[in-house]
Amino acid sequence: PQAKAKGISIFLVDAALDGVKKGRSLQKIGLHAQDTAELFFDDVYVPTTQRLGEEGQGFAYLMQELPRERLSISMMALGSILGAIEITKDYVLERKAFGQPLSQMQNTRFVLANAQIKAKAAQAFVDQCAALYQQHQLSVTQVAALKCFITDAQCEVIDQLLQLFGGYGYMQEYPISRFFVDARVQKIYGGTNEIMKEIVARELLGK
Ligand SMILES: Cc1cc2nc3c(=O)[nH]c(=O)nc-3n(C[C@H](O)[C@H](O)[C@H](O)COP(=O)(O)OP(=O)(O)OC[C@H]3O[C@@H](n4cnc5c(N)ncnc54)[C@H](O)[C@@H]3O)c2cc1C
Repeated sequence: PQAKAKGISIFLVDAALDGVKKGRSLQKIGLHAQDTAELFFDDVYVPTTQRLGEEGQGFAYLMQELPRERLSISMMALGSILGAIEITKDYVLERKAFGQPLSQMQNTRFVLANAQIKAKAAQAFVDQCAALYQQHQLSVTQVAALKCFITDAQCEVIDQLLQLFGGYGYMQEYPISRFFVDARVQKIYGGTNEIMKEIVARELLGK
């Protein structure tokens, strides 16, 4: 413990070893196609040959991969926003209320236009960060800003789009409901959006 970050090394651990246990599949509110479980390691013997990389560098390796993880979360957010716009567009063109398609009502048009505007801004930001990543120049702060902006946008936009489906939007048989429940965790994992703001503020304010 005294070594702090320098006391962490990464090991490849065979799941069949004694002392390795997988916990139950956790009951999440979304992402039902993906199992999430805790892993337990009790007195597991792992030989040094199973160490990944240098001793004491584990924390540094994990930190190095965070920009890539946050970029991929951001790309998922963008795909989700674009997909939700697509299915909502089809629905409002078809569904009629009070004698006219939903697509002719100003609120519907504004909600969809707002979603499209956010998608355009999100796309430009993702493209910029992806290009920086390819040049090995994507900074922790830049991608923290992207992850925070785009996952907030994802949750806001999808909530507004779901509203256009009325009661059907709350039903699992309508895919927009799945977009909604799957979106929420995006603001939590990969580092919460509060932590993303801390990273941005630290650079802005110098500490
Ligand atoms: C479905 C799912 C999959 C996951 N997959 C992985 C995975 O594959 N690998 C992995 O390593 N982790 C994974 N996680 C864990 C995830 O990254 C953490 O849950 C997340 O980073 C938040 O940490 P925490 O749960 O300990 O919350 P806490 O740190 O307890 O935070 C609680 C609240 O306090 C706020 N807070 C905490 N510290 C500060 C601060 N300094 N300033 C302001 N606010 C603060 C947080 O923003 C949050 O709102 C997963 C989580 C979920 C739900």
